Amino acid sequence: MGLLDLDKIIIKRTILGIRCSHCGGNLVLSPQRSIAGRFIKLVSLGTITPKNYECEHCQKRYMLL
Ligand SMILES: [Zn+2]
Repeated sequence: MGLLDLDKIIIKRTILGIRCSHCGGNLVLSPQRSIAGRFIKLVSLGTITPKNYECEHCQKRYMLL
């Protein structure tokens, strides 16, 4: 399980060069898909796939296009 934990950390550090603008915390990928995200994907005919991120500290949500 140690290897899995390491993978998680690497993914977080490399994909997310972004930080929460509110508290400066790490942003993690959120499994939830927002309605706005679905709408953007539909309007862009699938060319844009928005991803949802959530701050680890304050739970503030972000959408990355
Ligand atoms: Zn935050």
